[in-house]
Amino acid sequence: MLFHDIALIDKDGITREHRNVRVEDALITSIEPCATTLDEAQAQEIEVYDGRGKLIIPGFFNNHSHVPMTLTRGYGEGLSLYDWLYKRIFPFEALLTEEDMYWGAMLGIAEMLSGGTVSFTDMYMRIQGIYRAVMEAGIKASLANGLTGDASTKLEQTVWYRETETLRRDAETSDGRVIANASLHAQYTSAPELVRQIAEYAKDKQLRMHVHLSETIGEHEECKEKYGKTPARYFTDLGLFDVPTSAAHAIFIEGEDYDLLRDKKVTLCHNPSSNLKIGSGLADVKKWRDHGIRVTIGTDGAGSNNNLDMIEEVTLASYLAKGIHRDPLLFSTGELLTFATRNGALAQGREDTGLLEPGYRADLAVVDMTSLHFQPLYDIGTSLFTNANASDVVLTMVDGRILYKDGQFTTIDIEKVLWNVYRIRDRNLATLAE
Ligand SMILES: [Zn+2]
Repeated sequence: MLFHDIALIDKDGITREHRNVRVEDALITSIEPCATTLDEAQAQEIEVYDGRGKLIIPGFFNNHSHVPMTLTRGYGEGLSLYDWLYKRIFPFEALLTEEDMYWGAMLGIAEMLSGGTVSFTDMYMRIQGIYRAVMEAGIKASLANGLTGDASTKLEQTVWYRETETLRRDAETSDGRVIANASLHAQYTSAPELVRQIAEYAKDKQLRMHVHLSETIGEHEECKEKYGKTPARYFTDLGLFDVPTSAAHAIFIEGEDYDLLRDKKVTLCHNPSSNLKIGSGLADVKKWRDHGIRVTIGTDGAGSNNNLDMIEEVTLASYLAKGIHRDPLLFSTGELLTFATRNGALAQGREDTGLLEPGYRADLAVVDMTSLHFQPLYDIGTSLFTNANASDVVLTMVDGRILYKDGQFTTIDIEKVLWNVYRIRDRNLATLAE
């Protein structure tokens, strides 16, 4: 397939127009200046995509999500965090079956594909349902169940262990699309004895780690009071960061945490919408970057965002940094794109993707810049994280396979997905009303 006469952002962050990007099988095979008209190209090629007015980018890596939480989107708005979680979310989640997770994940995956996301890092439960959705939809994912438990918990006897072991075996047959992660939910939902067990398990099985870190001031200060150290130091001492780790939120990291996280090569994931909506606070992403910590972007769950729009998330990350530091140069389009693509790919351990260069996987998205909110267009590249939103994405491709194009999904029966999420919503509301 040839993307003909399309614009791109090169590795120095400069917009390059009139390029031909060729994809063969699962790979990008060439990128060259366009020297033909569309008619000439169509006469020579089997499949030509007219790229005029469009920008091609590496697809997004949503580095922190709870994908079936699409089912809870909009449920319990206007409550305090405590009431939202304990009166709405936890009772609702307790009713969700593995089959429900499949439908919730399918809705989330469809939304992500329609917004240019090609891979996501997830933490949830009953994850075999999520695995099935990922495999059918064709997207990539790093999946995990988020472990919680007290000092008496024996890891091998938990549902977590059974699900993670099943995922580990299943992922081996996924052609590399699914990566099994180990995941600890958070410092405040687990005892140190359990952190030690999961750290050992992850090391033994060579799994990556995904965890919530210092998301609220309450949990951060409580950890310091209880253990005399910050959550980052606590995790470091218990060995959690001895495997490649990606940690979400990290709003309240302080002092030596920055050096610890850098030295342990922990990737941090910025979740600006969720941080704002839940009232958690403002993360200082410039400081992460300046300390040499790898920065990624994630939407978090749809319950606390409320969408899975990576373009909006990156734009918000950029505007927040500008405002916090009173510096309109934070960050360049090229750097923002790196946060949301290559850095996310590397955080998942995927060296072969996240870049628009020959030899890399064709995990791509195309953004149409002909809508009114781009006009008049001066620079198609810098318009990405200022003017665009998810609905401007017109094509998403994973491993060279088109999964979304012009409002249509090639692998997902979206009517069936919607029918089922409404069925689950109504069933849960009826049960909870009893
Ligand atoms: Zn989260």
